[in-house]
Amino acid sequence: MRKQIAAANWKMNLNLEEATGLLKNILQAPLQLLPGREVIFAVPFPFIPMAAEKSVGKNNIFIAAQNCSNKKSGAYTGETAAFMLQSVGVQYIIIGHSERREYFHETNAMLAEIIDQCFLHQLQPLFCCGEPLSVREEGKEMDYVARQLAESLFHLTPEQMQQVVIAYEPIWAIGTGKTATTAQAQEMHAFIRQQLEKKYGHHIAQSVSILYGGSVKAANAKELFSQPDVDGGLVGGASLQAAEFITIIQSLD
Ligand code: PEP
Repeated sequence: MRKQIAAANWKMNLNLEEATGLLKNILQAPLQLLPGREVIFAVPFPFIPMAAEKSVGKNNIFIAAQNCSNKKSGAYTGETAAFMLQSVGVQYIIIGHSERREYFHETNAMLAEIIDQCFLHQLQPLFCCGEPLSVREEGKEMDYVARQLAESLFHLTPEQMQQVVIAYEPIWAIGTGKTATTAQAQEMHAFIRQQLEKKYGHHIAQSVSILYGGSVKAANAKELFSQPDVDGGLVGGASLQAAEFITIIQSLD
């Protein structure tokens, strides 16, 4: 059975006191994480040690970084290497979020290198893909996403691919309050799974969790997560409010 995952992306928000309080409020709720369900907190770099410490001994709670360098180590001022993240208790890395692609010019090829760094240090990629509005309006969203998968992920071995979590995040739905319809989400998730099947076969395609991201909130999570190929969500804005995110976690299928 595929893992069902609620992943919080805090982006560049909160100070240490606020971050500590938010995490505490969420973790003290009765989350009822059955086997096969996971919660991931992608916190800003300075809060990773705090979040890692708070999640010690908690079942199925994991910490993610929001990015990592495509370089191994050395003279790259301002960068953070995979081995450093591994050493402070990170398990997942968000890779290829549309904000990184747009504002920091991360290319599909660069993302492939980041993914390779992750695998050198036993970190699991949470790989984001998704089309801008102009591409959807042209009806080319499938080609666009297929290319993102092929150029960043399809050099992986089958064993590595099984470790990847994919998040489909249509850019027009991120932070806009405009959610993809359940039919649009399911259609793209099924397409992504089909691409995985073509490249890696049925067994692996069925084992990779594909999350939906784009204005997920307490009010729409259950319906989105009930779709057969939607295995949870990557949540931005709503993950900054404890009550909202707790309901989203409780909406996992
Ligand atoms: C995101 O940042 O990945 C995201 C989906 O943001 P939001 O939930 O705010 O749309």
